[in-house]
Amino acid sequence: MRRETWGGSWSLELDVALWATSDPTQPAQFPLVCATVRLKRPGNRTGELALDMIRAMRRNGHNPKLLTSDMAIVPGADPEKLQNHLYDMGIDTCIHIDEGHKGMSKDGHEGLIWVDGNPYCGAMPAKLISCTKDRHEKLISQEVFYKRLWERRRYLAKPNGKPNSKGGIQYLHPTDEAGRPVCNPGRPHAGKFCTQRSVVVPKERLNLKYRQKYHYMGPEWARMHFAGRSSIEGYNGTFKKVHRFGDPDQVTVRGYAAKYLAAAMMVVASNARIVENFYRDSPDQVEARFLKAKKRRAGTWSEAMHDAEFWNKQAETVLTDEDDPPE
Ligand SMILES: [Zn+2]
Repeated sequence: MRRETWGGSWSLELDVALWATSDPTQPAQFPLVCATVRLKRPGNRTGELALDMIRAMRRNGHNPKLLTSDMAIVPGADPEKLQNHLYDMGIDTCIHIDEGHKGMSKDGHEGLIWVDGNPYCGAMPAKLISCTKDRHEKLISQEVFYKRLWERRRYLAKPNGKPNSKGGIQYLHPTDEAGRPVCNPGRPHAGKFCTQRSVVVPKERLNLKYRQKYHYMGPEWARMHFAGRSSIEGYNGTFKKVHRFGDPDQVTVRGYAAKYLAAAMMVVASNARIVENFYRDSPDQVEARFLKAKKRRAGTWSEAMHDAEFWNKQAETVLTDEDDPPE
């Protein structure tokens, strides 16, 4: 989802919800059209309107399972207005964490902590907890940052089964290859999560504002997040170029309702164009275009993160690492 400003004598924003592919490693299996829009005053009621859009999609018989958005929508929204409802509908999020909120959240429970939207054993080393913040503040190099992100996986807690009747989820304590807990549960003040090796986290401690479906910045996360973001950027660019959305001279009608109708008609026209393009091309042409786009992205940071090989390399250097001595 994203917002786009529409100028004129007064400013309006169009919030756009777009379908994204569920498997970014393949060409899209269906046309990635706009599902619904809302025209509003800038910055106004972002969470409520995002929820309203998702409900509209569900009323139309669609059942979204994963939401990715710019930071203004999730995690920017108040959880009471958006994320708590997403959770109740079984919709996960795959989001970037904004700079001010990187690192550990206050929502920990009995020794389980939340860091950048993922659950971990609270004994995870401080340098791993703070690595996203440290990288943002340029305290560590990009290489050390990747190593520490990868190291976090060792401490990751796993959800066990579906939410209980009150919305709580049981999490299992992380173990090493031999099945032993990764921390020392006998240490002073170890939480129940470490001593009992599992804990049921109540709904209000699930860090729903930031909770991630995938490990933050890991390969699955990067694949889904960047695929969603690049579809919407592509849609947005074409929408502006072809339909000249945002150009006040293009639509001279006055008033909110008239502008809303004009914007909605532009979206319908844009969708028709996307559907036509999708079915016009042969599977070979679609494949060729997909590979061309992939090649164009090769070497970029976001593309490298999709690749498990890239992460394996980071993991190997962790073991032979000399510039980053143990603390
Ligand atoms: Zn532990």
